[in-house]
Amino acid sequence: MISLGCPKNQVDAEQMLGVLSDSGFEVTSDQTEADVIVVNTCGFIESAKDESIEAILDAAKMKKGGKCRALVVAGCLAQRYSDELRKELPEADAIIGTAEISRIGEICDRALGGGAPVMQVSAPKLVFGLPRVSTTPRHYRYLKIAEGCSNRCSYCAIPIIRGNFASRPSASIIEEARSLADDGAKELVLLAQDSTGYRDGKTDLPVLLRRLTRVRGIAWVRLMYAYPGRISDGLMAVMAEEAKVCKYLDIPVQHIDDAVLAAMNRRGASRDIRRTIEKLRKRVPGIALRTSLITGFPGETDAAFKRLLAFVREAEFEHLGVFTYSPEEGTPAALLLKQVPAETARERLDLIMKAQAKISLKKNRALVGTTRTVLVDGMEDDVLFGRTQSQAPEIDGVVYLSETEALPGEFVEVTITDAMEYDLAGTASKILTRGRGDKVTR
Ligand code: SF4
Repeated sequence: MISLGCPKNQVDAEQMLGVLSDSGFEVTSDQTEADVIVVNTCGFIESAKDESIEAILDAAKMKKGGKCRALVVAGCLAQRYSDELRKELPEADAIIGTAEISRIGEICDRALGGGAPVMQVSAPKLVFGLPRVSTTPRHYRYLKIAEGCSNRCSYCAIPIIRGNFASRPSASIIEEARSLADDGAKELVLLAQDSTGYRDGKTDLPVLLRRLTRVRGIAWVRLMYAYPGRISDGLMAVMAEEAKVCKYLDIPVQHIDDAVLAAMNRRGASRDIRRTIEKLRKRVPGIALRTSLITGFPGETDAAFKRLLAFVREAEFEHLGVFTYSPEEGTPAALLLKQVPAETARERLDLIMKAQAKISLKKNRALVGTTRTVLVDGMEDDVLFGRTQSQAPEIDGVVYLSETEALPGEFVEVTITDAMEYDLAGTASKILTRGRGDKVTR
């Protein structure tokens, strides 16, 4: 299984691996050993599509020279461009959509059986509750709470690919959280296209978060992809009151210029975004904020960009990602006039990242001498590393650790001794949990 794209796609990959294992397939990470290669693609923006096509063509080479007898293309690119892929990629023995992942075992059998290519793509829907094979260290696991999106941002293809927003039944989320905890999870990272849209009857996001903190074995619950205009007082209250809810929030604001926000069809104006950030920092002391921005959106003038750059310097996010605008087929923004040259968009991205690097270093330096709880993740170049509550897995910086025997999945108390642009270093003073224990302080 080659899985590309975002953690939400990664959960689908884990579910496909779970179904394949239950169907008697042996999972290998060595392509040269595989009879079937499944490429779980991303179809979000141009660069991700290119990467997916490349991965498919690389896998196809395995069919020519290697042991591989069947190539299966899954994921968002397959969902979005199934007909085109069928025409342009005769190497593919099966093309399956995101709603078909529960049938991956049967589809791989058919693909191995030879005969006409299998094409199984239907309307997108929320798929959950399938067995999973972990693709992350077991102590942190992604947990999907909803699928699709109904916000219709003018530049975004996700509603086309994943359909309208659909919340997952809360009982099945709790049940999966328990089984992940039994499997060693200490941290749950909640995923949706817009997690703040979550509601299952009387269970809204704040209620769901509280219930997840009661799952035995879980020490941290982290919330990703919160829509800025939908952060309720109830959510802030739960984040402030519940020690196990990470003092961390990912709120993609995308831009700050009112004309650009309107053209993006984003709900809320610049003053609303600023007010939300201010309220979050006041109501949830010590909260770390991550955001995502887009440069080069059609109509983004020099003045609009200057406002965005000034906002980055003013808001001082702990973590920030920037993307250059990618005109996506089928989205309203792709038809907008005043498209910004890619080079200009790139230059603007670089200016923002330069400013953010300074902010991140300044914030990291302010942590030197403080004591933090760190969840040990693993080893890199013989150096142990982990994360604080303020650092999400795989996208934020880490803490490099010295003087500790702790193992991945354990919590340690760390004194921060050094700060880099995005990472920290520290000395562990004591191991807070050994094996199973979920009572850790911040
Ligand atoms: S909220 Fe996110 S996923 Fe939904 S349409 Fe907007 S950018 Fe796309």
